[in-house]
Amino acid sequence: MNAASTTTTPDERVNPTTTARSESCDVLIVGAGPAGLCAARAAASRGAQVVVLDDNPAPGGQIWRTGPGVEAPAVARALLREVSAHRNIRILNSAKVVGVLADHWLLVETDSAAIRMQWSKLILCTGARERLLPFPGWTLPGVTGAGGLQALIKGGMPVRGERIVIAGTGPLLLAAAATARKAGAELLMVAEHASLQAVARFAMQLPRWPSKLVQALQMRDAAYRASSTMLSVSGNGMVESATLQQGARTVTLACDRVACGYGLVPNTSLAEALGCNLHHADGITAIAVDAQQATTVDAVYAAGECTGTGGSESAMAQGNIAGFAAIGELKMAHSYEKERARWSAFAALAATCFALDDSLKKLPHPDTLVCRCEDVSHGAMQAHSHWTAAKIHTRCGMGACQGKVCGTAAQFLYGWELPQARMPFSTARIGTLAECSPMPATSPDSAR
Ligand SMILES: Cc1cc2nc3c(=O)[nH]c(=O)nc-3n(C[C@H](O)[C@H](O)[C@H](O)COP(=O)(O)OP(=O)(O)OC[C@H]3O[C@@H](n4cnc5c(N)ncnc54)[C@H](O)[C@@H]3O)c2cc1C
Repeated sequence: MNAASTTTTPDERVNPTTTARSESCDVLIVGAGPAGLCAARAAASRGAQVVVLDDNPAPGGQIWRTGPGVEAPAVARALLREVSAHRNIRILNSAKVVGVLADHWLLVETDSAAIRMQWSKLILCTGARERLLPFPGWTLPGVTGAGGLQALIKGGMPVRGERIVIAGTGPLLLAAAATARKAGAELLMVAEHASLQAVARFAMQLPRWPSKLVQALQMRDAAYRASSTMLSVSGNGMVESATLQQGARTVTLACDRVACGYGLVPNTSLAEALGCNLHHADGITAIAVDAQQATTVDAVYAAGECTGTGGSESAMAQGNIAGFAAIGELKMAHSYEKERARWSAFAALAATCFALDDSLKKLPHPDTLVCRCEDVSHGAMQAHSHWTAAKIHTRCGMGACQGKVCGTAAQFLYGWELPQARMPFSTARIGTLAECSPMPATSPDSAR
């Protein structure tokens, strides 16, 4: 039996002019990272028809991203094999949710089609994005986020022999450095903004999570420096040098590439559009969930880093809980709660030790671009008192990334609240956007 049923006639019923096809499933999972894959396996365990969709060309999410010569770890390979072979699970790669059409209906765009996807239960496993903060030179070719560099290398970008500086804050810096070294790059410095005391506090607690301790020991890097902050990058059309603050002194390093990221921010756009409540803590906004990973909207669950950044182990535990809870297997869901609590404690420690401090607000100069899609400078943004005014007057957030980068930076730099995300959540084909007309409310069963 197929995991999802494809219908040919409901198109006429919901929109007489549509070219999209309609599909339906019992459980729809958005995101095929550690959380989504675990949720899929759990939700399909009692026969429910499950669809997992992800905008990447292959499942695995951020941490298990593969590419030429890059293999996912054994635990990921086993999970991927199990999910891919499951008769009740269908994985849709290169498929992104671009909008909410009606209650229990999402609009999905694949490489070749638009799909109106109807679901009975929905599990959001949309992960997190890297937080980029502007500093002079950050828009030069050759500057990326730390996770961004890692993704590019995994995707096949050659860095052999390149001199690289990695900066920002959080455990992702060391993961990116390890990937770059393995690919033959020369790491000049891994500059951690957090103080030596904060890093030591984090390291001293790691024995509570032995696998993380082993990981940290494997990834330790001689170029790692705490209390170090990227100030600027210079070069003529490409990266030529990076200047960093190291304690009281300033150092300039000749280099070919710079990667700088300040932790992760949960990806909440779809949850917001569905009306799910968010929760705010330590400057991070995430999807609010209860003990069973249920959101405040009926039949909608959320798991993994969209509910708060905490690493793949936490994402997997949450995915299992959400998947079982969605099919009413509450005893099974409950059995993963201890595991979730263990990794929540790790996430809380990382959040405190690598919290951003206000000194980072001084990094951009008045002429530093904050919105790099629409070329809007820090000075131009500062002339306004809130995001909407800045957007109306400067076009910030109206470019290709739809404010995902500059909006997050503006939240931190100016303390602005961002309005609720609206569809389309990402760039989409005209043919897909034509499907965005309102649909009459239907019950999940009526389109099958
Ligand atoms: C760039 C980057 C690199 C990272 N590298 C590491 C690392 O090396 N080591 C580590 O421990 N942690 C890393 N992390 C942290 C990592 O995100 C988590 O540890 C783990 O992957 C979280 O799992 P998840 O399932 O919650 O989310 P993810 O793995 O992020 O999976 C979410 C998936 O949902 C997809 N998605 C989101 N919105 C939509 C939509 N509207 N339509 C379709 N698909 C959608 C995303 O493309 C993504 O594939 C990285 C994070 C980022 C952002």
